[in-house]
Amino acid sequence: MSEPLLCVEGLRTSFHLEGGVLRAVNDVSFALEPGRVLGIVGESGSGKSVTALSILRLVDPPGRIEGGRIRFRGRDLLDLSEAEMEREIRGDRIGMIFQDPMTSLNPVFPVGVQIAEVVEAHQNATREESRRRAIELLGLVGIPHPEDRFSDYPHHFSGGMRQRVLIAAAIASQPDILIADEPTTALDVTIQAQILGLLGDLQRRFGTAMVLITHDLGVIATMADDVMVMYAGRAVEQGSAQDVFERPRHPYTQGLFDSLIRLDDSPHSELRPIPGNPPVPIDLPPGCSFRPRCRHAMDICGLEVPSLLPGAGRRRVACHLASAQPASPAA
Ligand code: SF4
Repeated sequence: MSEPLLCVEGLRTSFHLEGGVLRAVNDVSFALEPGRVLGIVGESGSGKSVTALSILRLVDPPGRIEGGRIRFRGRDLLDLSEAEMEREIRGDRIGMIFQDPMTSLNPVFPVGVQIAEVVEAHQNATREESRRRAIELLGLVGIPHPEDRFSDYPHHFSGGMRQRVLIAAAIASQPDILIADEPTTALDVTIQAQILGLLGDLQRRFGTAMVLITHDLGVIATMADDVMVMYAGRAVEQGSAQDVFERPRHPYTQGLFDSLIRLDDSPHSELRPIPGNPPVPIDLPPGCSFRPRCRHAMDICGLEVPSLLPGAGRRRVACHLASAQPASPAA
């Protein structure tokens, strides 16, 4: 196994609100290796997006990173100055694609100019070189007639085309890591498939590592090598995507799979949604946050937060049930 490119250890990011402290990311650790795709999956409010924003130190007040380490190529990003983050990390070594392409592009500048600015800022290129590179990138992400489209404004593009423009800007510096936060949520199903196909092609072509954030297990199945399942700000299960899909061990992960429609289901089989709602992670009660929704809950679950314990291979599970049972050799 190669050295992790990104190693997040014990990350804690909180929002200090009038009603209490919202622990959006609570002691989360994971590693990303070169060229691999890590899928982070969970319901809304589970801490997926705040984890991504924390990596790039883009958490706005009243949120703040309160602990942990984010080691990227041997440097802790939490030790860098804001100027170093802006010059050397964001949009340079780590690119980010956000959920809503309309709000991520500046409506008053042509799309080509916005991509050329990224090239100029990070690659020491002249204005003409940046323009040529921007046109090349527009073509690379599948914008037809890129030279003609260079001067068009964001409102001239459809949602899917705007997302392609954002992807072009995110890969302009050939980053080591691409973070994609729900990159297809705002798009219709056909366009979603095209954008995921494009991201997969680019990821393989350039060997870029990717953190892919989604609530959609189907997206994880298509794209991810490894998966981290989040619930109420914590990682509850981690492992290779194949292992987790074949043998989910945490009751929450099992519930996510049980609530899916499968092609091989009989027409009479019923969906089994997870009962209840995820908690808002403010002043959480002691013990496991999933306990009110868990059909396997035991006395200890109300007393102690389960630790994320290693199983075979890459697998880690945070559940008292899993720690009471030996991991199966394949799990
Ligand atoms: Fe359920 Fe207990 Fe495991 Fe939490 S620790 S998921 S309540 S069995």
